[in-house]
Amino acid sequence: MSGIKIRNLSYQYPTGSDEVLHHINLDIESGKLYALVGVNGGGKTTLCNVIRGFIPHFYKGDLSGEVLIDGKDVRTWDPSELAEKVGFVFQNPFTQISGVKETVFNEIAFGLENLGVEVSIIKKKVQDIIMLFGIEYMQHKNPNELSGGQKQRVALASILVMEPDILVIDEPTSQLDPQGTEEIFKAIDIMKKKGKTIILVEHKMELIAEYADFVIVLQDGQIMKQGRTEEVLSDENTEQYGMELTRYTQLNIEMRKHNMNTDRIPITEKDSIE
Ligand code: ADP
Repeated sequence: MSGIKIRNLSYQYPTGSDEVLHHINLDIESGKLYALVGVNGGGKTTLCNVIRGFIPHFYKGDLSGEVLIDGKDVRTWDPSELAEKVGFVFQNPFTQISGVKETVFNEIAFGLENLGVEVSIIKKKVQDIIMLFGIEYMQHKNPNELSGGQKQRVALASILVMEPDILVIDEPTSQLDPQGTEEIFKAIDIMKKKGKTIILVEHKMELIAEYADFVIVLQDGQIMKQGRTEEVLSDENTEQYGMELTRYTQLNIEMRKHNMNTDRIPITEKDSIE
């Protein structure tokens, strides 16, 4: 179980003329799901790249302040150890799938193979993840022939099999239909129940209302608001922060505030509650 502490973080890209993150302070508790929201260009992807150590290990620029993962600054982490600690799932599943493996099973095994893990252990771990995600039916299929939602689930399984404590997931559903989106969120929920610390960039507010424990609003490189999901989504400035809440989401938030049972309704049905 891992937490993240960010103290007075500012960052400017090597090619940029201005800072894109200004004096960010955050405490990310382990085992919780944090939604990172805000209008485009606000700095969400940049912040994700700092947390996973891509900045400053591969992308230099001017970083000041502290980003502590398990109490140790990202700058002092060994990049490959940090990559094992923090799993990163891209926006586009098509770039995450290796494209060189002929079955889903082998695709999920790929990362462990690269680490030189013993074959019998790899088999066991991959089988466990496949069961956990309920994707036994696709394990012998070619990953290149899967739908976007299926690919994205395989991408998530490929990261989770490496057992990172922290997961950074950048807009995993931006290219998916409602069914694919539902499948991904079920997978994300499984990871949360396994105690992973999750930082998720997501625009779909109904998903955030349902799954996120905390919401962080990032705008122009600054944290405008952060707190429990029901608090932040009840803020009168949500529209100003680029968050549009449907009646369904508002209702869900009200129920959360009153600690009522918010039994899950499939996303396809939610769309009709306007
Ligand atoms: P978001 O994820 O919220 O849309 P980003 O982190 O992608 O925001 O971008 C924040 C700011 O950083 C934007 O002004 C963007 O133009 C700038 N930016 C992003 N990537 C780079 C880069 N590689 N070099 C220079 N500027 C960048």
